[in-house]
Amino acid sequence: MNTVELILKKRSGLELSEAEISYLISGYVGGSIPDYQISALLMAVYFSGMSDEETYFLTREMIKSGDTLDLSQISGIKADKHSTGGVGDKTTLVLCPMLAAVGINMAKMSGRGLGHTGGTIDKLESFPGLSTEIDGESFIKQANEIGVVIAGQTAHLVPADKKLYALRDVTATVDIMPLIVSSIMSKKIASAADIIVLDVKTGSGAFMKKEEDSFELAERMVRLGRNAGRKSVAVVSDMDEPLGFAVGNALEVKEAIAVLSGEDAGNVRELCLALGTCVLLEAEMAGHEAEARAMLEKVLDDGSALKKLAEFVEAQGGDPRAVYNTKLLPLAPVLKELPSAKKGYVRSLDAEGCGRVSVALGGGRETKDSKIDLSVGMVLHKKVGDFVEQGESLASVHAAAPDKAEEAADLLRACYEIGDEPPEKRKFIRGIVQ
Ligand code: URA
Repeated sequence: MNTVELILKKRSGLELSEAEISYLISGYVGGSIPDYQISALLMAVYFSGMSDEETYFLTREMIKSGDTLDLSQISGIKADKHSTGGVGDKTTLVLCPMLAAVGINMAKMSGRGLGHTGGTIDKLESFPGLSTEIDGESFIKQANEIGVVIAGQTAHLVPADKKLYALRDVTATVDIMPLIVSSIMSKKIASAADIIVLDVKTGSGAFMKKEEDSFELAERMVRLGRNAGRKSVAVVSDMDEPLGFAVGNALEVKEAIAVLSGEDAGNVRELCLALGTCVLLEAEMAGHEAEARAMLEKVLDDGSALKKLAEFVEAQGGDPRAVYNTKLLPLAPVLKELPSAKKGYVRSLDAEGCGRVSVALGGGRETKDSKIDLSVGMVLHKKVGDFVEQGESLASVHAAAPDKAEEAADLLRACYEIGDEPPEKRKFIRGIVQ
């Protein structure tokens, strides 16, 4: 095969065959096809797209580039979840213990935060002593004993994605639908769960800003997952404003604990119940939506999901007392309120902006190697649709030093739009894709 001819074929809008995609990806990972030719191919994909079949072949070839997990020694139904990333997104911290408490096995890998979005691994490290570096044997044992285990993603899982993503990042080819679908789904399929639930966000703080793009992403991922023999389902939800009230690692853990103790925390409970319901229906553990929801509400309200979190934290070397006494979580030394300059309704609250405030406070990463402060962040007292009096606090900023708090408060004030009229009400859950 000839690489130039294959680039030309894609550039002309034709479909690549399974053998051609295999040649290109294995050649790239093996080093026989250089970056510049794959860059040209990626740009050709931007203009010509890829069919579902091509995307499937690409995903399968990417999976072949590395190890896949073997979960066959884990008992019961295994589910995995992926979030397309957002601000204040503590869903995994609630969903995993909640589903484990009803008998689903949540053995999963998660990532760290980058840019304005946070990552589960960083959040979990708020528990003093907790480690997500787990060997294969302990991973299986913990899943069987507790029903929830979360490890950091290994370098051996889909190395083709790491190489391709790094190239996409510097060639303006990240925002290409079939490449996003194959990147996400290759890692989920290689992680071997029976059920994949996809938490797709839409809005200003999301990877996909437009609702129609979020639905297209959700539909393509679900189709691909099903073609690969995995039960797959997606929930599309709002990320125009942060999820819940807390943004920042330890603050989000505290909020997740509140939800596991039966509180709502804005829409956090609603989203986790929607995702969990999809899993229970796919697992055929409930006959209909109301039954699934009731099973999940029970474990949130009777303390068993919270107990599951404590067991999980302890199994991974963390201090389980922090689950019941959140004062043991990292706490920032400076607390500053942000008074509203005027009275009115919160018309919008820029989620991406809030994520950037968290990074400015030291709670997020500007680059992969940045060190982060787990204690800092913000708690939003007013969200979209709320009424605020002049001088009333919009949010509390948790900072490492007074000057950092001042700077963050100015940035956060600019994220709020306050007006005389209440904003139009919008649905939080935009849809389920099956
Ligand atoms: N997240 C991923 O894992 N891959 C992409 O391509 C985009 C978002």
